[in-house]
Amino acid sequence: MSAGEAPSIFTRIILGEVPSHRVFENAHVFAFLDINPLALGHTLVVPKREVERLEALPEEEAAAIGAALGRIARAVLETVGAQDYNVLQNNGPTAGQVVRHVHFHIIPRRAGDGLGYRWNTKQADAGELAELAAKIAARLAEGA
Ligand code: AMP
Repeated sequence: MSAGEAPSIFTRIILGEVPSHRVFENAHVFAFLDINPLALGHTLVVPKREVERLEALPEEEAAAIGAALGRIARAVLETVGAQDYNVLQNNGPTAGQVVRHVHFHIIPRRAGDGLGYRWNTKQADAGELAELAAKIAARLAEGA
């Protein structure tokens, strides 16, 4: 959250100002049921720190989310009796992010649930991939 901006709906949930159906909480992480679920058990896992995008999340909080995700997913699946799930995380409006506070969707999947999952892929050129990978790796090596 930038100075002067209103807290996100998720910050208000974490603070207890807005009700939610909480399933998990620790020092860095808060998880609760999505109010408009795509499937039974659709759960949101969010960092307590209000950061808009994943790449801005400090490493310790990112690690805490990473550690919690699988645990929460297992509990959700066991509870709703599903075997499979998607983890979805949107960054920015073009990617479909509506709430400007990092969040991971855990979406239980069942055969015939009609949700779909295929995006339109295209064939890659091996040379282009090699060049792109080298550029990204160089950025990371520079400390990006
Ligand atoms: P996204 O499109 O990735 O930003 O997803 C935002 C998600 O937040 C949607 O799935 C909403 O249904 C969910 N959401 C918004 N407000 C609430 C709320 N008060 N309690 C629970 N989930 C919410």
